Amino acid sequence: MSDRKKPPVVGRFAPTPSARLHLGNLMCALLAWLSAKSRGGEILLRVEDLDAARCPYMGENTKYMLDDLAWLGLEFDGEVLYQSKRSDIYRSYFEQLEERGLIYPCYCSRAELHATTAPHLSDNTPIYDRRCLLRAERGEMPPEGRRPAWRVKVPDGEISVFDGLQGEYRENLLRDCSDFVVRRADGVFAYQLAVVVDDALSGVTEVVRGNDLLFSTPRQIYLQKTLGLATPNYYHIPLLTDAAGRRLSKRDGDGCMESVRAKYKNAAPVLGALAAALGLLPKPEAVTLPDLLSLFAWEKLPRDAIKLPEGF
Ligand code: GLU
Repeated sequence: MSDRKKPPVVGRFAPTPSARLHLGNLMCALLAWLSAKSRGGEILLRVEDLDAARCPYMGENTKYMLDDLAWLGLEFDGEVLYQSKRSDIYRSYFEQLEERGLIYPCYCSRAELHATTAPHLSDNTPIYDRRCLLRAERGEMPPEGRRPAWRVKVPDGEISVFDGLQGEYRENLLRDCSDFVVRRADGVFAYQLAVVVDDALSGVTEVVRGNDLLFSTPRQIYLQKTLGLATPNYYHIPLLTDAAGRRLSKRDGDGCMESVRAKYKNAAPVLGALAAALGLLPKPEAVTLPDLLSLFAWEKLPRDAIKLPEGF
């Protein structure tokens, strides 16, 4: 056992290196860092490269990512965790679910799933109608030669999240989401399982991430409760837009760190623009991370869209 004092907050930044970082990711990293560090906490970095085998550029993007974070001056505590190296850990939790009869194989192809008239979730996956569970209960044989994905059976009950920025968010898991995948047919463990296992095993007490993941949180809380893992506090951050409130366009390279770093020699004006967007500064001006530590407070953040200053 280490005799290291337990930090009051353990935050984390957990990007998926599917492309080079953009300002929206950086804002998230900055907020997670400020939130933890302004209260004497620790901040961890986890690379969510679960799909490394299928995405050949993840290694390269990860190198850029580490360099972009260092350029901004963000330092992380402890070792960087790579999800691609943690399959054995995810497997042990998956097996716990299996032994307890909480998961079942799903042989539906993507085309079959999308052919349904069921409503879709905000990530465009259809709400599953439990076809494979019902077939198995009727004693039907599974199709030959297909590897199944594995879904966890969810209860017909409400799960509520208290989010530090968004307030209360509730979902009835069965009605609003249904049984979700914890292991894909290609054997890769799903994000929903990996994220709860990693956060808990790393002692994370606070999750700061984009608002697009709020709808995943009840599923994650369900897995935490089922697996006996702790639930962290959550802050889901609104989308970063340009000054007119428009989404930053990936196609035009808006906000991509490649263009940001070509335009700005150092990070101070970039931190200043983000700080102004976050309500930490009245107008954009060059700042350092230590300046921001004393200015940071969650109460100052806009609740809807976060807008970059004009001309940035
Ligand atoms: N890896 C996810 C992303 O880059 C974030 C996961 C999380 O913060 O829980 O969107």
